[in-house]
Amino acid sequence: MSFNELGLDHSLVRAVEHAGYHSPTEVQRRAIPAALAGRDLLVSSHTGSGKTAAFLLPCLHRLTQPAKVAGIGPRILVLTPTRELALQVQQGALTYGRQLRRMRTIALVGGTPYGQQLRDLRSPVDVAIATPGRLIDHLERGRIDFSRLEVLIFDEADRMLDMGFIDDIETIVRRCPSDRQTLLFSATLEGVVGDMARRMTREPERIEVAGSVQNRAQIDQKLLFADDMGHKAKLLKHILKDEGLQQAVVFTATKRAAEELSEELRNEGFAAAALHGDMHQSLRNRTLEKLRHGRTTILVATDVAARGIDVAGISHVINFDAPRQAEDYVHRIGRTGRAGRSGIAFTLAGHTERGLIRNIERYTNSSLAVETIPGLEPTAPPPRPRRSGPRPGGGGGYRGAPRRGGGGGAPRRDGFRPSNGGQRSRSSVE
Ligand code: AMP
Repeated sequence: MSFNELGLDHSLVRAVEHAGYHSPTEVQRRAIPAALAGRDLLVSSHTGSGKTAAFLLPCLHRLTQPAKVAGIGPRILVLTPTRELALQVQQGALTYGRQLRRMRTIALVGGTPYGQQLRDLRSPVDVAIATPGRLIDHLERGRIDFSRLEVLIFDEADRMLDMGFIDDIETIVRRCPSDRQTLLFSATLEGVVGDMARRMTREPERIEVAGSVQNRAQIDQKLLFADDMGHKAKLLKHILKDEGLQQAVVFTATKRAAEELSEELRNEGFAAAALHGDMHQSLRNRTLEKLRHGRTTILVATDVAARGIDVAGISHVINFDAPRQAEDYVHRIGRTGRAGRSGIAFTLAGHTERGLIRNIERYTNSSLAVETIPGLEPTAPPPRPRRSGPRPGGGGGYRGAPRRGGGGGAPRRDGFRPSNGGQRSRSSVE
């Protein structure tokens, strides 16, 4: 199928093709015609599925017609959980809308000075991309007008709720015209997100992209057990020296750990940089620019800061600290395997993190392949085999006998020895 068949304006089809995309992804094939028909949508899809174009293209199509209501406020409003994602969506709007005459976009995100945003809001705006907190500031000061708003989009709605934006979102939605179109994109449509979605949409069409967690990119997922932090650091450095590594994102649990680890890596000669929420926005932007241009090879980041990073050169994701939320695991490893490439994700787990690993395995419905690096094996007893389902007649406690030895698989060329007899999980995540 080609983009031509979706009913989009020719200028948009040309722009998409100019960006190098010739056939729509599944979420685009399903969401674009429904959105063009004016339907509200609830879409479950992950980053990496092509979701940004799935909501931007039908919205930009509206801009080929004049606004029905006079005013200077945005016709399209995209809400995103983080500044980085907002800037990325804005970049998408500029790419896909490059042939639209006089299209103006504005990013209303925290961490940037108000002055420029206020000046920008005095001229007509077509597409506003905002994080909820900053948008509320502008709304409360009467600096933004929603009278000509046609479409409201929630990008990564589940994440916005996780980050505690529910009250802000409710306030924003109350200020939007009731005859607007609403498009909600989220990794999950269950639970709180589902409740919110029902309240904020009208007879929505529900689109679930196959497998939701299991889709798209091929990401090879590996688990390495570590005795302590020093052991983790050694494992990390070993992985970072892998010849096949182009660029990597290393995740830490705290901002401080991100700073310290990136400094340690720089001292050892790696082109590493930290990215976390306490950094000034301009520094965060510069850091991401360097990553995009390949001047930074290793980004040491926290979950929120790394959300939405889309850099094709990221070949490895390394969870230096295991994520506390299983959903974060999926978002983290989705930083690799972008743009149709494959990727590798390592999780380094200490003894206290085994519970987190089990949660991840339950959430992704697949077990992580345990590996060891010759010379860097854990000294503590190796992990016990996991159960995949309930044991017949069994209570909850048994986890199997401890395994002995470091596993039988022969070392591979990359120096890793599968410790589960060579069985590796090559799952498709995100
Ligand atoms: P997203 O899910 O919006 O984060 O997009 C993931 C990646 O897929 C981005 O690098 C997009 O530029 C890319 N992309 C978007 N649409 C297509 C398409 N139709 N074919 C191939 N790649 C695409």
